[in-house]
Amino acid sequence: MSARLIDGNALARSIRDDVARRVAALAARPACAGGPVVPGLAVVLVGEDAASAVYVRNKVKDCGEVGIASTLDRLPADTSEATLLARIAELNADTKVHGILVQLPLPQHIDAHRVIEAISPAKDADGFHVGNVGQLVVGRPLFRPCTPYGVMRMLEHAGTRLDGAEAVVIGRSNIVGKPQALMLLAAGATVTICHSRTKDLAAHTRRADVLVAAVGRPNLVTADMVKPGATVIDVGMNRGADGKLCGDVDFAGVREVAGAITPVPGGVGPMTRAMLLVNTLEAAERSAG
Ligand code: NAP
Repeated sequence: MSARLIDGNALARSIRDDVARRVAALAARPACAGGPVVPGLAVVLVGEDAASAVYVRNKVKDCGEVGIASTLDRLPADTSEATLLARIAELNADTKVHGILVQLPLPQHIDAHRVIEAISPAKDADGFHVGNVGQLVVGRPLFRPCTPYGVMRMLEHAGTRLDGAEAVVIGRSNIVGKPQALMLLAAGATVTICHSRTKDLAAHTRRADVLVAAVGRPNLVTADMVKPGATVIDVGMNRGADGKLCGDVDFAGVREVAGAITPVPGGVGPMTRAMLLVNTLEAAERSAG
């Protein structure tokens, strides 16, 4: 039997509609409640990386569609770390800016860790600052990284039971795998994190009621690795041999075994974009009290 499809496009659309409504409410705030606030996102791009240029263009476009004000700083590839840090300090101090996002990867001469740590934790729209990672670890999240946050919204929407479930996350990056595991743990799942050094990956994945693949390898997860009825979330974004976008999961095979599955494209990708808008809006709501 074919798995139920978890439609990231449709869910992202409804989240964006909700963000637009809340943005409009903030903009209409009466003077007695503190006056109007327009949520603002500052995006900083250093260098000419083609994929990054597309990502930031989409982020700015998404903001415009829901009424969030955005700025895009395009800095040349030879921008010094000191110049970038000075720009971040200006954005930290700018009361019109509620979220700051520095597009990764940065050119090699810039220490990405130092740059992320320079962003005010109260404006860290990506949720990568160690302060926000710590908040997530202790169960008091402020900003959650957009991709795993979007996955959690998809699981909630799909009605997937997490309390007491066996969850397996493949991948242990700081931006997807680790925060994903923490969020699943907070939701009551028993979580296993697998990675490139894991012995017998399939032995772990076959136990999973919820399987999240965040690796970057087409067809890593095949039907024989999936527990019948499991919910399978494919975070991977790869180019297949045919040049088409694909995930980490053999979609055609796995959908015959899983209970629910996300497609690529149209799964986690649009949710990541939507959750950046949520993070920016919520930062503005917090600053507006
Ligand atoms: P990453 O930093 O390269 O991490 C990949 C992880 O996969 C690492 O932990 C690595 O293990 C593990 N891994 C590699 N080969 C493996 C194998 N054969 N078996 C098990 N684990 C293996 O990548 P990322 O930034 O987390 O992104 C992962 C994927 O998600 C990429 O395709 C990326 O494009 C995609 N992505 C999509 C979105 C979206 O919005 N849809 C957002 C972010 C990322 P080690 O740690 O041992 O090296």
